[in-house]
Amino acid sequence: MIRIRDNPDRKVGIYFYTRNTYLSFVSDYDIIIVGGGLAGLTAAIHLSKENYKVLVFEKKAYPHHKVCGEYVSNEIIPYLNSLGVSVLDTGAVQINNLELSTAAGKVVKTNLPLGGVGISRYNFDNLLYMKAVKNGVKFLFESVIAIDYIKDCFLVTTENNSSYTSRNTIGAYGKRSSLDKRLNRNFIKQKSGWLGVKAHYQFDEFPENKVSLHNFNGGYGGLSKTETGAVNFCYLASYKSFQKQKNVRNFNEKIIAKNPFLNNFLEKATPVFDEPLTIAQISFEQKKSVENHIIMCGDTAGLIHPLCGNGMAMAIHSAKIAAERIHDYLKSKNGNRNHLEKSYEKEWDKTFRKRLWMGRQLQTLLLNEKMSDLALRAVTTSPYLLRNLIKQTHGKPIIC
Ligand SMILES: Cc1cc2nc3c(=O)[nH]c(=O)nc-3n(C[C@H](O)[C@H](O)[C@H](O)COP(=O)(O)OP(=O)(O)OC[C@H]3O[C@@H](n4cnc5c(N)ncnc54)[C@H](O)[C@@H]3O)c2cc1C
Repeated sequence: MIRIRDNPDRKVGIYFYTRNTYLSFVSDYDIIIVGGGLAGLTAAIHLSKENYKVLVFEKKAYPHHKVCGEYVSNEIIPYLNSLGVSVLDTGAVQINNLELSTAAGKVVKTNLPLGGVGISRYNFDNLLYMKAVKNGVKFLFESVIAIDYIKDCFLVTTENNSSYTSRNTIGAYGKRSSLDKRLNRNFIKQKSGWLGVKAHYQFDEFPENKVSLHNFNGGYGGLSKTETGAVNFCYLASYKSFQKQKNVRNFNEKIIAKNPFLNNFLEKATPVFDEPLTIAQISFEQKKSVENHIIMCGDTAGLIHPLCGNGMAMAIHSAKIAAERIHDYLKSKNGNRNHLEKSYEKEWDKTFRKRLWMGRQLQTLLLNEKMSDLALRAVTTSPYLLRNLIKQTHGKPIIC
């Protein structure tokens, strides 16, 4: 039987009640963060800087590669600097030009209003992890299988059947997890028709300051350089078009190579990875930013279409909002959880809802062959229009 009580030194905890004795079976944390990607790691660094006891669960040891376009908007650079994380010190390349092409090879070029940097997730996540460890954050490399909210306290259970309690829990476990099923989230009940593929290549002629986005039948892919000098090629494809080709090699040869820019790249570039990385079941459905009292951050709260190149900045920005709201809640004597949740939801909506909507419209446009030709013709005659569209999917730099 599980009973909840305040223990004598006033730390909130969950205790087994057996034979009239309360047995503590857990450690106490101010905040448990489930998932150590960009959102989880940023929240961990921010909250540990405020001297809270933070525990992060991550299922994979660092460093590791991830399916991602690896272009990060400059929006979050000042904020990361304020946390003591300097992305540019890793050799990340500065990117300020964009090239867009249709499946048939019609092209438009413009400069990026805000710009960004190219950095591999292998190094980016690891950089944040090392900073979090330095700040005293505890990491456990285990998969979380359940998060339960019991009497104003969270019970987090891992695959090894260990349980831990916390006063607050942040869900930062990415696009999709068995936890979403357990939480009975709406988006998980719907089929998702997208998959992502990513690999690094040696391709010296690709300019450092450019990100290029190329359309093909059933999807689009981005090229940009990373701090290692390798070019990252990452694409999103619909199952419908991928299924017919059965594997990545066939899909690259038969579909992707029809775009002349991507054909040139695939012919000349040398793969660095043995095999490309793939992820399936990518969902762009709307999600709630608070679920069963868990504050959701990054992709766990909502994923923007990758063509916007803004998912990483949104993950980091949402972690900032969550950390600030949780700090306000914990430092006030009579912290009101309802107020914490409502103020996080409100700020999340205000900051991201419009970007997500615009991302959905742009993706629909880009994936419709006729419409994308027309749209590209319109933006070729007006780079102002293109820059304005990009602005609509990005935030302003976070000044700290
Ligand atoms: C094809 C594609 C291309 C993209 N390109 C770009 C781009 O160029 N620029 C950009 O800004 N964004 C891009 N994005 C979006 C970006 O990758 C995500 O928005 C970003 O990674 C979100 O970070 P996160 O911390 O929310 O999630 P993640 O980085 O996915 O981190 C979640 C972490 O949780 C861990 N985890 C999951 N379940 C559990 C569990 N049960 N227990 C413990 N740990 C768990 C995972 O191992 C993972 O490390 C792209 C996305 C896709 C699909």
